[in-house]
Amino acid sequence: RRLVVAIDGPSGSGKSSTSRGVARRLGLAYLDTGAMYRAATWLVLETGVDAADQRAVAELIRTAVFTISQDPTGPTIAINGTDVTQAIREPRVSAAVSAVATNLEVRADLIARQRSLIADASAGIVAEGRDITTVVAPEADVRVLLVADPAARVARRHAELGGVVDNEAVTDQVIRRDRDDATVSQFEAAAPGVSVVDSTHLTLEQVINVICALVDD
Ligand code: C5P
Repeated sequence: RRLVVAIDGPSGSGKSSTSRGVARRLGLAYLDTGAMYRAATWLVLETGVDAADQRAVAELIRTAVFTISQDPTGPTIAINGTDVTQAIREPRVSAAVSAVATNLEVRADLIARQRSLIADASAGIVAEGRDITTVVAPEADVRVLLVADPAARVARRHAELGGVVDNEAVTDQVIRRDRDDATVSQFEAAAPGVSVVDSTHLTLEQVINVICALVDD
């Protein structure tokens, strides 16, 4: 059976590590839809197109070629032939991504691409992202909303950044991105049929176990 697992959640919820871990455990492909929005944002910054010019941004992305490796142990993404796997994690991309992700034409374009990537994953796939359980793949076999207390999310983001950034700055970032994203996603409340998994007091391994148990049900 071709299994599709959809995982949603705010930044710092452990969405990416969890999704990759579940994909590895179950031998499935892995798709990070956030990486596509980040790659689109990288291209906007790189080409100097005005992020506020919705038509120009949509046209730039419509004609862009995304090359995505769906290997959960080392996912990569290239746009128009440039590997941007590392570059899309830069703070300048994180700061600009909400502006691109709220462009409705860009969203329609990327959602269509994501749906065909999911449909083409012959061995099944774990797909993660803000609208994955509700818009991109509402028919997924298992749909999960991963949540965690803000303090736990801040601590995780802080650890991810190697502890080099002060906690106050990380708290600001997490809170700001929650607010920016609130306009495009409703991850605060789970849609009907979506299982809420609270990772606040769980290790990564435990969260992966909980989701794999949902798959077996
Ligand atoms: O998942 P990640 O934090 O890398 O996503 C980066 C940004 O891309 C999010 O903050 C959100 O603005 C946008 N995004 C989105 N829809 C998705 C995935 C990401 O709008 N499915």
